[in-house]
Amino acid sequence: MADLMNKIVSLSKRRGFVFPSSEIYGGIGGFWDFGPLGTELKNNIKSWWWKTMVLDRDDVYGLDSTIIHNPQVWKASGHTVSFTDPLRECKSCHQRFRLDHLKSDKCPECGGELAEVKQFNLMFETYVGAAKETANKAYLRPETCQGIFINFANVVDTVQPKIPFGIAQIGKGFRNEVTFGNFIFRDREFEMMELEYFVKPGEDEKWFDYWLKQRKKWFVDLGIDSKKLRYFEHPKKALAHYSKRTVDIEYKFPFGWGELEGIANRTDFDLKNHAKLCGKDLKYQDDKGKKFYPFVVEPSLGVERTVLVLLLDAYREEKDKEGVRVILSLDPRLSPYKVAVFPLLANKPKLVKQARQVYELLKPHFVVAWDDRGNIGKRYYSQDEIGTFLGCTIDFQTLEERTVTLRNRETTKQIRVKISDLKKTIQKVLEGEEFLKFGKLVK
Ligand code: ATP
Repeated sequence: MADLMNKIVSLSKRRGFVFPSSEIYGGIGGFWDFGPLGTELKNNIKSWWWKTMVLDRDDVYGLDSTIIHNPQVWKASGHTVSFTDPLRECKSCHQRFRLDHLKSDKCPECGGELAEVKQFNLMFETYVGAAKETANKAYLRPETCQGIFINFANVVDTVQPKIPFGIAQIGKGFRNEVTFGNFIFRDREFEMMELEYFVKPGEDEKWFDYWLKQRKKWFVDLGIDSKKLRYFEHPKKALAHYSKRTVDIEYKFPFGWGELEGIANRTDFDLKNHAKLCGKDLKYQDDKGKKFYPFVVEPSLGVERTVLVLLLDAYREEKDKEGVRVILSLDPRLSPYKVAVFPLLANKPKLVKQARQVYELLKPHFVVAWDDRGNIGKRYYSQDEIGTFLGCTIDFQTLEERTVTLRNRETTKQIRVKISDLKKTIQKVLEGEEFLKFGKLVK
């Protein structure tokens, strides 16, 4: 299984999904850059989350707040005091370790003596303005949801939503994690997709269960193996300072079960504390004129962690007479390229010209790859490995009949389609209708 992780790391680097950040200078721990394919995959994940969590619903509104807030925000949220990991530092090599990761009193790296436990705040500090004074100290946000709470009144005043309703945000989060690793699983800079769903107090438990089911279904609908997903209930005594209940959706990673998404019942903790500190009324008023602090149910998901799960879950190998075919069985809605266009032979100008026309025809509508290197079999293999859903080949028959072959990555099954019907057919395939007939995910 650890082997699978190595394969994903190597595929990601080789094909341009993920690169170590600042690699030419030896990298920087816990930071990763996304290459041409990784960027498309990430964008597709974010767009799909936005579509299903915001645009398809009547009760969720979007927000895009800043990364740096007034530092009072982190006082009200409790982060300046509580967003800490208990650590022990090695007296010889000075490396720091999270207490919950230590198995003995000795340094796991050099065997040296460990100092007493210290609390280490995970927020990155910075300074706003020219003077590096305490008064100017600010933080890079460790979660995006505080931007939502501090804009709660603005959103309520502008869209006048009926409770229950949600405010959603996608954006960067920063955590100075002490232990990072397992590739992009735990990073120091990452993107979060968070929904704060505001409900009447007393209805919070019902809505918590609703979101728990919805969020697991979201992953299963994207083809993630449901046997590799489970719920993990946080024990009461281990809950974060703001939470009444937290359940993680965990995935079975090659290194063991790990959190994929966290769902928390944040109660009215954040709004109440902000109201107290800023002195403004942040209560919601319902249509009967009753004022109260809503409770908040929060599904919170990391984009990079979703990328990792999708890659691990989609990867498969199939033996055939040529060797091993590597396939990324990504849902076509998430695939970086939807379709790749090939001239059967790259040294036949008529074929290349016709293929180029097909490519230009499709390009405004889909993310399309062009490949005229090597033989056609190699090109199919190369596209299968990055999850391109369809291969469209222009051959001699195309020149006579104006038809092309469309090959399905999952089954390698091919159909013949008229160029005039091509756009419509691909659209149908990607929307799932034809796709189900043409070849389901083979995982
Ligand atoms: P942990 O206890 O593992 O440090 P957490 O419980 O503090 O994590 P949450 O605050 O629940 O994490 O974060 C919500 C989601 O954001 C996680 O489920 C994960 O998908 C993502 N996430 C959190 N921290 C990181 C990180 N350092 N790198 C990448 N993704 C992260």
